[in-house]
Amino acid sequence: AKSLGRNNFQIYEVSTEQAQQQNLALKSRLRHAEHNGELRVFYQPQVDAISEDIVGMEALVRWEHPELGFIGPGFFIPLAEETGLIVSIGEWVLRTACRQAQAWEQQFGLRLRLGVNLSAVQLMQSNLLEIVSGVLDETGLDANLLEMEVTESISIKAAPNLIENLQGLRRLGCRIAIDDFGTGAASLDYLRKLPADRIKIDQSFVRNIGVDPDDEAIVRTTIEMAHRLKRGVVAEGVEIEQHLRFLQANHCDELQGYLFCRPLPPPSFEKLLFERQRL
Ligand code: C2E
Ligand code: CA
Ligand code: CA
Ligand code: CA
Repeated sequence: AKSLGRNNFQIYEVSTEQAQQQNLALKSRLRHAEHNGELRVFYQPQVDAISEDIVGMEALVRWEHPELGFIGPGFFIPLAEETGLIVSIGEWVLRTACRQAQAWEQQFGLRLRLGVNLSAVQLMQSNLLEIVSGVLDETGLDANLLEMEVTESISIKAAPNLIENLQGLRRLGCRIAIDDFGTGAASLDYLRKLPADRIKIDQSFVRNIGVDPDDEAIVRTTIEMAHRLKRGVVAEGVEIEQHLRFLQANHCDELQGYLFCRPLPPPSFEKLLFERQRL
């Protein structure tokens, strides 16, 4: 048993080392992903909770690796943050998504809100506002259609420029959404200190609707609190009818999740808008 344990330990060590080497290889490959045209932006609709009309969309980045296929952002965004590549990738996502939203507005005459995720690294940049206003000028997108999603895992204290940047984004006319609400260590502090227009209830709570009465109570209370503070609420990870009915009954404003649609590449999203428009 002893030697087996030892053996297991070695196997574990080898595989960690391999994983580290793979990450290193991916990091250096990621350096060229933008230039090589391997990054894609997918769009997931956000619907009005009552009418179920599409009222917005979230831009979600993907990396199409030539050998490994699609790599999700949950895996490569942390690598991009470690290497600082997130600054240029984030700017690329913002520009690509704003250009796309502007094109769809012209093509379909729909004023859809565009949600773009900002990493903590971007939010600490002293030139964030110049980048965002540059992209808005260049693409012609209305600033009030752009909603920056800020994840709650960023520590307000440890992030210089965070509050100044968010206030500046609002002065430009952009909206701010607190992403993954309820999962950070200081959700209420966030709500109190950050100039946010909306909160996005994290999918870990939504998933437990119909399963865990405590999580249901948290969802209900979060919606009520947001409304008392004059903030809008979006629920993410809406997967089944039961989630939909609960969120409607508790006056959530907007919904996002697989029940309505997965994140789609632009041609498929366009098809969806076209079909909706003809209804
Ligand atoms: P997020 O901002 O919380 O985005 C929502 C994630 O939930 C997306 O995963 C989306 O595909 C997924 N999702 C949507 N509906 C459902 C559902 O009904 N059920 C389940 N189980 N999942 C659903 P994705 O695209 O893999 O992105 C993961 C995370 O990566 C995002 O979480 C966000 O934190 C980050 N991310 C994505 N794009 C960007 C980006 O351009 N910049 C930065 N900084 N982060 C990004
Ligand atoms: Ca998000
Ligand atoms: Ca989220
Ligand atoms: Ca998340």
